[in-house]
Amino acid sequence: MTLGKETGGFSLKSVSGVDWNDWKWQFRNRIRSMRQLAAIQQRPVASLAPCRPVLRTYPIAITPYYMSLMDPADENDPLRRQCFPDPRELTFSLGGVPDPLAEESNMPVPGLIHRYPDRCLAIVTGTCAVNCRHCNRKRKWRAAQPGGERERLQAMVDHVARTPALREVIVSGGDPLLISEPLLDWFLGALRAIPHVEILRIGSRAPVTLPMRITPELCAMLKRHRPLWFNTQFNHPREITEESTRACEMLLEAGIPIGNQSVLLKGVNDNYDSMRELLCGLVRISIRPYYLFQCDPVQGTDHFRVEIPTGMEIMERLRQNISGLCLPRYVLDCPGGSGKIQL
Ligand SMILES: *Cc1c(COP(=O)(O)O)cnc(C)c1O
Ligand code: SF4
Repeated sequence: MTLGKETGGFSLKSVSGVDWNDWKWQFRNRIRSMRQLAAIQQRPVASLAPCRPVLRTYPIAITPYYMSLMDPADENDPLRRQCFPDPRELTFSLGGVPDPLAEESNMPVPGLIHRYPDRCLAIVTGTCAVNCRHCNRKRKWRAAQPGGERERLQAMVDHVARTPALREVIVSGGDPLLISEPLLDWFLGALRAIPHVEILRIGSRAPVTLPMRITPELCAMLKRHRPLWFNTQFNHPREITEESTRACEMLLEAGIPIGNQSVLLKGVNDNYDSMRELLCGLVRISIRPYYLFQCDPVQGTDHFRVEIPTGMEIMERLRQNISGLCLPRYVLDCPGGSGKIQL
């Protein structure tokens, strides 16, 4: 079976339907090099020279699926903007810092951010399916993966177990759905076994960037660890596809409610119409818009930042025109690590 998926010079005609729908195939065949990026845009590799230093600092990764949703030759494509390297990532005009939220100093054990009294966030891996250029943890992309994963996760479980105030654990990354399924199952089970842990939450962009990762087996496993909530990150209405809708439907059918955390991004969703279409589209597929994040002053993301008054104007117009069910809270994660505030 051929799918005839074709985007610009990136021909996927030879891909069988089975491979295309296999998340491991999608992961293995991610676009990771300048050569591939040039071929996709049907440009000579030399024309991408300004991007070479960007890739050295912030590697690229794009799944064939996510690539198939965009026009790789259109610099203004809102999906392309989220994953193609941009020389502006290396200019820090606004004085961005690598870790403005001081996450590294709020870690009682490596990888566990404990900033609020009742909930903490476990970074179980640094790997993602697609490297979002606006990522607030992009500083971590180049860090070598620490070995001994099970021991690292055990140290997090131990911290949660000895901290009775913690009633919720957010399992995040990177993308937690990219660690081995038995390891994730074990980790969720170990947390679930702690009497004061009431709620588990997964933070993953896989439904958007690698929807085939949501398999019946994964859903059956997650279902055993309920009450479990799932937050994902749709940023543009074109990310709501047949595939991502199916992935979310499977999670919902397993009894896992889904929330969405968008990031307000210049040239992606910083206008009323795109935002309205995104939020209403999410509710149509039973996803509750949860947060709209002001893009943090992270090094390498200046060109994505929208002025707060612009964000407030968009929010106000949304508030007047769409259902309360569709409205996220517009929040700013405060520099210095003091937490999120509603704008
Ligand atoms: C955002 C965040 C949370 C979760 O906060 P909610 O407002 O409950 O979504 C927890 N820990 C850290 C470190 C966070 O950044
Ligand atoms: S999915 Fe999240 S953690 Fe991963 S690169 Fe994108 S923004 Fe960063």
